Amino acid sequence: VETTITPDAPTAREVLHRVFGYESFRGDQQAIVEHVSVGGDAVVLMPTGGGKSLCYQIPSLLRPGTGIVVSPLIALMHDQVEALRAVGVRAEFLNSTQGRDEREAVERAYVAGELDLLYIAPERLSSEQTKRFLERGRVSLFAIDEAHCVSQWGHDFRPDYLALGELAERWPDVPRIALTATATAATHREIAERLSLGGARHFVSSFDRPNIQYRIVSKNEVRKQLLEFIRTEGSGSAGIVYALSRNTVEKTAEFLRANGIDALAYHAGLEASERARVQSRFLREDGVVIVATIAFGMGIDKPDVRFVAHIDLPKSVEGYYQETGRAGRDGEPSVAWLAYGLNDVVQQRRMIDESPGDLAHRRRLSAHLDAMLALCETVDCRRVNLLRYFGEESTPCGNCDTCIVPPEVWDGTVPAQKLLSTIVRLKRERNQQFGAGHLIDILRGTETQRVRQQGHDALATWGIGADLTDQQWRSVVRQLLAAGLLATHGEYGTLVITEASGEVLSGSRVVPMRTETARVTRSKAVRP
Ligand code: ADP
Ligand code: ZN
Repeated sequence: VETTITPDAPTAREVLHRVFGYESFRGDQQAIVEHVSVGGDAVVLMPTGGGKSLCYQIPSLLRPGTGIVVSPLIALMHDQVEALRAVGVRAEFLNSTQGRDEREAVERAYVAGELDLLYIAPERLSSEQTKRFLERGRVSLFAIDEAHCVSQWGHDFRPDYLALGELAERWPDVPRIALTATATAATHREIAERLSLGGARHFVSSFDRPNIQYRIVSKNEVRKQLLEFIRTEGSGSAGIVYALSRNTVEKTAEFLRANGIDALAYHAGLEASERARVQSRFLREDGVVIVATIAFGMGIDKPDVRFVAHIDLPKSVEGYYQETGRAGRDGEPSVAWLAYGLNDVVQQRRMIDESPGDLAHRRRLSAHLDAMLALCETVDCRRVNLLRYFGEESTPCGNCDTCIVPPEVWDGTVPAQKLLSTIVRLKRERNQQFGAGHLIDILRGTETQRVRQQGHDALATWGIGADLTDQQWRSVVRQLLAAGLLATHGEYGTLVITEASGEVLSGSRVVPMRTETARVTRSKAVRP
């Protein structure tokens, strides 16, 4: 390990003050900067907004040579480089948006040793030509941002990241630092393995974002619910609304605009120039609400995003955590709001069933969804549940909907038995399977055309659930799905029992359920 800090060279703290204008390091920043500055490899897990950039920017300024930053976010390189230049750092980028002259000027500056930092897209760095070019100058370190993109099981997999493991052989003496905001222990191990960071020190920060208030509501008229949420909580503030499909994105943005919210749509189907315009308005103006697919937001550094709303159920807790993490990077109170309903569950199960890939892959997707559902249906603190998912134990936070207004819990065992036995009878006696809607009609004794056609008003369970409303039944179904006491099957999302259902039917297992809770508004929230 080569030490490069000489007595008259600036210290990390001096660079932090003089160049970046910050008082002190946050969290693990100092330890990471010191470790990498003297040539150590690092794997850094820090939540979004935690301050990962300084962890490689400062070592790049302290070490001789140029820090090479690998980032998949071409659209953002420009902004990052501009911000660095504004504080006097000699930074450039190389990506496909540049013309030849521009590129050559950057290359010359690098070779001449005139750059502190050089941002490069991963597909470029994996080419032999680029590696040879880098050898003509001096690399001080490699920073691999969004390192979870190397994980083939993750939701952001990028094949070009796999080639980055070779940097270790080519530049054995150059320290490498891999950074990510999203990683379970498994992804974490995968990053170390695939990027040849076996000997790296790991820095794992707490995943808690205490200023974010988590709220999950059940969906009925989602656009109206969203509008009301924005009006009461986020009026005039910047926010991001996530939806799964482009169509929903466009419709929702239109709806919000028609109701006086400055909302813009963003998804991968838009022209690059339109995406750039939307992004730039969001970053530079106040109070813009972006309605987007998950294509939006990775690497966006806007400190004052006051809310992140999901109007469709995210596919995994990792995704949810990463997306909600875009709120409140400035540490001020912010809200993560999610509305979800039974249809989300049915639709996502179907997408999983139909997804290409082997059984193991589908099982993994299914496990991701189950964890997300468990978070939605928990009667305990959302944050405790969320942090436990990332391996952190904590105590109830006082700043999530279930802490502020503890959900009423009722004994759902009897309704669960009624529903499950209806499913069992239909299967056994008539070899039939149905979706939630029809089963609820049977239980509530609603005489629909389908009920009459099928003669389901003659079933023993016909009308035995009239004591609950349609909405209550939907909540029962959702909670049974979340608890694995019910499963969906096939392209129509029909409901089937699971192995565990037997315990409920035999009466050996009680099923506590949450009552649909009252709304939580910010006035009741606790400031962290
Ligand atoms: P990440 O990449 O982990 O999401 P960033 O590096 O973009 O986070 O930093 C998030 C925000 O916090 C930025 O606005 C950054 O300028 C600010 N920040 C980072 N470190 C510090 C610090 N030590 N003191 C004050 N602000 C900081
Ligand atoms: Zn809580």
